[in-house]
Amino acid sequence: MGTVQVLRQTHVTPPPALAEAISSELFERVKMREIPVLLMRQQAATKQWGGFCMPSSYTESDEIVLDARCVERGTWDPQPDAIKVIYLHEAAHRLLPTMDHNGAFLAMALVLYLRAGTDSPLWHRVKLYDVQDEGENAPLAFSWAWKVAHELAASELSAERCAEVIVTRYQEWCTWLAGADERVQARRDAAEAIEQQIKSLKESRWWCALTGFAVGAVVVAAVAVWL
Ligand SMILES: [Zn+2]
Repeated sequence: MGTVQVLRQTHVTPPPALAEAISSELFERVKMREIPVLLMRQQAATKQWGGFCMPSSYTESDEIVLDARCVERGTWDPQPDAIKVIYLHEAAHRLLPTMDHNGAFLAMALVLYLRAGTDSPLWHRVKLYDVQDEGENAPLAFSWAWKVAHELAASELSAERCAEVIVTRYQEWCTWLAGADERVQARRDAAEAIEQQIKSLKESRWWCALTGFAVGAVVVAAVAVWL
């Protein structure tokens, strides 16, 4: 082995586009503590990621990684909204370390996007990618996350507290969802039972009418014979 490489983090002045996008005003709006940024440069030929969030145990200070190219002038000027979205997506991962791209993650990302958006809304930047782990339940998860996120985004709760609420509610939602098939079957059984009851009532009404008619006829005949 000739040499080894060493990663050494140093503090630098944020590039202007990064400073503009990730400002103290943003942290106030989203009600979140500042999560440090580590700029890294992925291999030139690839554009696989805009950022990523490693588990805290692999970081020096819970930092999240942004691709340096996102904040530098290249073919296009860096886009503040695009930088914000990458940062907030990775921040949502940091706030929910036990969740992947599921309904809870989508709710967290949406809370941050809803709060961060001003004249230029950011909520429409969420993607199906953000909820991909839900599989066939993705539409239900999206609907659940949409409702929860709007409620929490409008609250005074910090983003960290929102994360705790989301985790609790998501576990409750998963339990509710797991019982959905049984509830549908129970409703079907109840509907069938009512249908059977109505049917049997109808039949017994006809029997009563027929019996009443027969008794009446017998009485009339008996009276006629007796007279
Ligand atoms: Zn992600």
